[in-house]
Amino acid sequence: MIIVLKPKHTPKELTALLKEIKRLGYKPHVMRGVARTVIGAIGDERSHQSLDVLRAWSQVESVTPIQKRHKLVSREAHPQNSTINVRNVVIGGPELVVMAGPCSVESEKQIIETAHGVKSAGAKILRGGAFKPRTSPYEFQGLGEKGLKLLAKARKETGLPVITELLSEDHAELVAEYADILQIGARNAQNFQLLIAAAKTGRPVLLKRGLSMRIDEWLSAGEYVLSNDNAGLMFCERGIRTFETYTRNTLDLSAVPILKNETHCPVVIDPSQGTGRADLVVAMCKGAVAMGADALLVEVHPDPKTAKSDSAQQLSLGAFGQLMKELQPFAQAAGRL
Ligand code: PEP
Ligand code: MN
Repeated sequence: MIIVLKPKHTPKELTALLKEIKRLGYKPHVMRGVARTVIGAIGDERSHQSLDVLRAWSQVESVTPIQKRHKLVSREAHPQNSTINVRNVVIGGPELVVMAGPCSVESEKQIIETAHGVKSAGAKILRGGAFKPRTSPYEFQGLGEKGLKLLAKARKETGLPVITELLSEDHAELVAEYADILQIGARNAQNFQLLIAAAKTGRPVLLKRGLSMRIDEWLSAGEYVLSNDNAGLMFCERGIRTFETYTRNTLDLSAVPILKNETHCPVVIDPSQGTGRADLVVAMCKGAVAMGADALLVEVHPDPKTAKSDSAQQLSLGAFGQLMKELQPFAQAAGRL
């Protein structure tokens, strides 16, 4: 870390500060400039506690960490892009991967029809919520284990790997038994015990951005997955809370190039939760691909107006087919297969 001192300090104060830096486990190097004294302190900065201790010293003007708190997710630790192989679908490689399916699994007919439909349009992974994080307890909560079984059935029929949300630590083993990828939802993005439980199943983890989460907080949440021996982490931007009301959330597409720069983990865009509007999904997907997103997570329902959750944002199978066609030139221009 770099510690910049205020212009006026006594030699005695400097000695006391150096002693404190050593006590915290760092090796200090003093650099005296004309106007300022700067101390370079070498040591492990992953815990930010010692930085805060030093910031509290009255002679200290600023403390700047060199190491990032999110060490394992950072590109510094792993310069090449990470790829995640899910039943031979590679996320984070040259191919743009589209994951599609209903917000919630509602019935056998609905999920099987959707799975066949999205597959024939070019989707590579089937999505569907079995345990749903609903704002109100009176709304449809998902089919639970029955929904997981239906997803497994759809996978068996179509060969598409499945992604579904893990809502609770208690369900980690159960959901991992059926799902190929565990989705951690926006409402649980900083539920660290859940992140650890998800990581420990060994299944790849798609970590949504929290409703009001800064990117540094999101990266640190991802660190909980990688630091628990699970290399299959991907980040999914799904819109954040802003003052805007035209859209359900504000989809932060700037997160794509920022994340691609900060981390080696694949980046996914969810334009469905991201806008809450089916009519905006195509444009957002094109933008996401142009920005360099590795994958898209799109809600598709055979009859969106009757959907038990998120009906306004789900695409019909026909609209999804059209999306996949329109995306092709954008994917090509972005160097994707
Ligand atoms: C979803 O994917 O249906 C969902 C509930 O996502 P989020 O956690 O992003 O709201
Ligand atoms: Mn949804």
